[in-house]
Amino acid sequence: DAIDSPLLEVQGLRKEFGGVTAVDGTSFKVGTGALTGLIGPNGAGKSTTFNCITGIHEPTGGTVRFDGHDVTGLAPYTLAKRGLVRTFQIARELSEMTVLENVMLAPPAQMGESALRSVLPGLREQVQRDEADVVEEAWETLEFFEIDHLAHENAGNLSGGQRKLLEMARVLMTDPEMVLLDEPLAGVNPTLEEKLLDRIDELRQDGLTFLLVEHDMDVIMNHCEHIIVMHQGRVLAEGDADTIQSDERVLEAYLGG
Ligand code: ADP
Ligand code: MG
Repeated sequence: DAIDSPLLEVQGLRKEFGGVTAVDGTSFKVGTGALTGLIGPNGAGKSTTFNCITGIHEPTGGTVRFDGHDVTGLAPYTLAKRGLVRTFQIARELSEMTVLENVMLAPPAQMGESALRSVLPGLREQVQRDEADVVEEAWETLEFFEIDHLAHENAGNLSGGQRKLLEMARVLMTDPEMVLLDEPLAGVNPTLEEKLLDRIDELRQDGLTFLLVEHDMDVIMNHCEHIIVMHQGRVLAEGDADTIQSDERVLEAYLGG
């Protein structure tokens, strides 16, 4: 079982905002190469959990282990270099750049290296070759998501669904091992939704690990081999789709809000 060799292990994670406890001792594992769903009613603490795992928030307590190492509280940039990334909505500054520029700007690890190399004399040729590689990889990534025809469009002009594909393309440019997706299908039409899910399946076959927060229960139940249900900042239940769907506590959590 994938969960017997976890890539991500969250143990006793806590996050308080003033008097509000958003995450209240959450523990779970994500198996290497698995597509794991994280679900739960609004306010359950899913996004805060994501933000604690990916270095957006400093956890109040608990640990996050990735690939066997304690990565609790590390910055997003550092986590990305280690292969753990999340998608981000395209920020306003980036929406005024083209789709191609957005994708080329994405790789934090490589950008750091290039910046270092550009200050070292005699390595200019190397820098240029690296940049050519980035351009080629950017085009391949755009083709993979079938948004290469939009390469010279400003990101701000994309539809909601095309934007989600661009967000995925951006994280893939960082050459991740694990991708966290927070509602990647929100506002995406059925055609693009299918395209996005197909791409996720293909990437999994290449060995990528995914943790997915998504409201669409059909998508969760049909695509995730392991599902974690959060309620009031804790893990209420976990298991495969059949286990979750027949768990009365899960139904009650959704009905009770
Ligand atoms: P979910 O993503 O499952 O809907 P969230 O993680 O967004 O849940 O929120 C969990 C709880 O934490 C909610 O009660 C929410 O109001 C609160 N919360 C989330 N972010 C903050 C914040 N930055 N400041 C204060 N409270 C927050
Ligand atoms: Mg949320």
